[in-house]
This record gives sequence, C-alpha cells and structure tokens, in this order.
Amino acid sequence: MNDTLIKAYAFNDNARVYVATTTQLVKEAQKIHDLWPTASAALGRFLTGSVMMGAMYKGALNHDDTELTLRIDGDGPLGGMVATTNALGHVRGYVGNPHVFMQYNSGKLNVKAVVGDGHLHVTKDLKVRDIFTSSVKLTSGEIAEDFAYYYTVSEQIPSAVSLGVLVGEDNHIIASGGVIIQMLPGHKEEDIVAVEEALKKLPPISEWVAQGHHALDTLQQLTGGDHKLLETMPLSYTCDCSREKFERGLIALGQEELLTMIDEDGHIETTCHFCGKKERFEPDDVTALIKEANQ
Ligand code: ZN
Repeated sequence: MNDTLIKAYAFNDNARVYVATTTQLVKEAQKIHDLWPTASAALGRFLTGSVMMGAMYKGALNHDDTELTLRIDGDGPLGGMVATTNALGHVRGYVGNPHVFMQYNSGKLNVKAVVGDGHLHVTKDLKVRDIFTSSVKLTSGEIAEDFAYYYTVSEQIPSAVSLGVLVGEDNHIIASGGVIIQMLPGHKEEDIVAVEEALKKLPPISEWVAQGHHALDTLQQLTGGDHKLLETMPLSYTCDCSREKFERGLIALGQEELLTMIDEDGHIETTCHFCGKKERFEPDDVTALIKEANQ
C-alpha cells in the first residue's frame, strides 16, 4: 500500500478532513536512522504530522513551493527531532538519539517519556519574502496532542489530530497513519459534536491502518460517505540534498575553518542528517571552493 494523503470537506462542509497513510515513509526513516521502537513511534508520528501540515499548503495561494521546518526540542533521551516538508508530500527528518526504547506498563511505546518537556517550533518559508517561526510549549509529548495545540493556539484553527505508528515486537514498522480534522469558520456546536463522535468510533489509527484500510476507507469511516473529496496525493520520504548544497555549507564555514579541517584529517567528509548520504572533499576540492568563495 503506497503512502497517500487525501483531503475532503465534511460535517456539513464545516470541517476539513485530512487522512494519511505513512507506513512506507516511516519504514524508510527507520532504515536510514536505525530507529529503535520508541524512536520509530516518535519520529513516525512527527513525520506524519509534518507531511500533513505541509500538504495543507498545496494549491493555497500559489504556495506550492512552501517549505516547512518543524522542530521539537524536548529534553528527553530522544534528544529532539527535526522534520522538513513541503506542499508536495515530501518529508524527511531525524532524531538526536535513534536508540531509545521506553514502554508504559501496558507495553505501549512511551513516546512522551523519550520526548520530554520542550517546545514545538514551526518555521514556514513561503518563498515570498519573510520566514515565520511560531512555537508552542509541548502539552503532552505524545505528538498528536502537541500538533492539535499548535493549530488551536498558534493558528487559531480548532483541530483534532490523531497520529499513530504500530511497531512489531521484532521492531518492524507494521503501520502508520494520521487524521487531522479542522473546523472551518462558521461551524456550529453540532458539527464539533459530530466530529468528536466520528473520531470516537474510529479505532486507533495505527491499528486501523494495520487492518489494511487505506486513506479513502478511513475518510469513509469518519464521514459515513458524506464528504466532498478535494485531493489525493502521494507521500514519500524524500531528501533533496546534493553535493552542491554541502559545498555551500562548507563555504559558509570560512577559509580558516576549512584549512584547519584539511590539516587535521587530510580530507573533509560531510554526512546528510536526513538521508545519511556522505560526500567526501579532497584538499583540491577544498582549494577550489575557497577560490570560488573569494572571487
Ligand atoms: Zn540527504
């Protein structure tokens, strides 16, 4: 089952519903970063919430080239998380420490404990002029509630968010997905009640996806078929790093720093935090970079 996001209007057209399946992209993240179960659950939920937030910009006021960077600076053993995403369904991310495994007594993965206290920061680069960052304190550390709090407080959009990753005992990713329902201006109290009822009837999203339900099934389940489908888009773990981007990063370090690094190691190796790709720069490459920077 490919990762997919769908958007629809429902609940008397007074709510926007986003449903995503993200099993494949979370599998990819786990493979790249060697995530242990609780890190998989934390980053998986975070990537799912992030890619859904990015997708909200698709088609909105020509913001298709919007880029979002989301960061959680929690003080728990996970050591924080970063995700970047865009309006096209591409997402990538990493955690400070991938090797964390904490459970509740019930056996459920304890994401809250590995994340700790901190903030969720959202930086939007709308490629127009300014870059905006807004931050909210983590209210739960279980990620979904933190996204809901962000939308409600920072964007004044009352939102319900459900994010879930099911990790098998052998540490493989069984399923991952998310639901976001946002109330639109003019909604009535009865619409909120209807949304709450619909969410109550939906099993935990990770278990529901594990049963083989794709995004459209989930939408159907939530709305009873009473919705207007707006869009279906594929989602993927995509990194757009390149040697050229690393070159720019190296140039930014300055000539002195680069020469010191060459003196110490004989070469410079860079590693992409998001996809693990390595680039090696020999002394001649570095000399050329310095020359270029000084031109
Ligand atoms: Zn990369």
